Amino acid sequence: MLIQHDRLTAFVTEIFIAAGAEAAVAREVADHLVEANLKGHDSHGVGMTPIYVYNINGGRLKAGAHAKTIVDQGAVLLIDGQFGFGQVVGREATDLAVARARETGVVCAGVRNCHHLGRIGAYGERCGAAGLVSVHFVNVVGHPPQVSPWGSGERRMTTNPFCAVVPQPGGPPVVLDMATSAIALGKVRVAHMKGEAVDEGVLVDHEGRPTTDPAVMYEKPFGALGPFGKHKGYGLAVMCELLGGALAGAWTAQPGNERNNNVVNNMLMFVLDPAVFGGVEAFQSEVREMVAYLKSAAPSPGFDRVRVPGEPELESAAKRRVDGIPIDGNTWQELLKAAAAAGLLEGRISELTS
Ligand code: NAD
Repeated sequence: MLIQHDRLTAFVTEIFIAAGAEAAVAREVADHLVEANLKGHDSHGVGMTPIYVYNINGGRLKAGAHAKTIVDQGAVLLIDGQFGFGQVVGREATDLAVARARETGVVCAGVRNCHHLGRIGAYGERCGAAGLVSVHFVNVVGHPPQVSPWGSGERRMTTNPFCAVVPQPGGPPVVLDMATSAIALGKVRVAHMKGEAVDEGVLVDHEGRPTTDPAVMYEKPFGALGPFGKHKGYGLAVMCELLGGALAGAWTAQPGNERNNNVVNNMLMFVLDPAVFGGVEAFQSEVREMVAYLKSAAPSPGFDRVRVPGEPELESAAKRRVDGIPIDGNTWQELLKAAAAAGLLEGRISELTS
């Protein structure tokens, strides 16, 4: 089915209000999730709602929590998300880092104990919109690992996203925002929901043999998701674990740490005002010229044109704002169940969804 983004936002907002969130918080989370759908990342869109409701009901997601500053030393901030909605505490932490970067030129901010932050690009884009550069190393904890290190089929890490953003004068920022696993786990979940196979080279079964069946991530005997880009992607994932997890979060995926069915993100974020180097105009001009140079390359067979990171998301959003957001039948059923589990009355669910 195709559903218009504003209807989906209204429905998901009411689910979170029914689950106990304040209206403004519920709306912010719904906006973030629907924006992920609009940008083509259904893995991080409204399909996450059932997990969030489950975690609120289980006391693992604190719907009323806000970002709390733990360390404030000029260009260094450490912020605790207190297990609040990542979409809220992550945005609050980003706003603190942006405001501080305007004073100090550069900020290194650790952000720990956030319930799922969702699409990391959302925080990078906020920095980019403020004219700032940002780099984000993130790990994911609170549940058993799903991603194998390069050279093994055994699970040791999670999908550890990395994001880097460069503002463009007069245009949208260049946004690299990606899982360091071969694909985002949520994309395996979406394929599993749809009963589709994933690409080769993404998954291994419980004996470490390649497979395209997403069920190995959800049904015993479990397989694993591999890193992207062989040893190099694995290396970047390790840095997300050590910088986002060990340094910012003091919580990595190693088995001595708590695994309680939660989805917790820790993030180390660097935010830089390009003006500190004194050559903003030269920087902007080089960004503009280099982006144009990249995009002038002739497309290979099977490609319509060359893009820079962040462009596919903008194209998807432009299309889906008009056409609506595709929601598969399983995801829709899970959303309806989540609405009931949140305490939304049946009559109201019908009003919102008919
Ligand atoms: P992806 O593979 O779809 O895209 C990765 C990057 O490649 C994006 O920056 C995109 O703009 C760029 N890109 C894609 N096609 C391109 C092209 N043809 N030319 C140039 N650039 C191109 O993303 P993903 O790895 O599946 O990640 C999806 C989302 O999942 C991200 O928003 C990420 O933050 C999120 N995520 C979150 C968590 C979490 O724990 N919160 C964990 C993993 C992933």
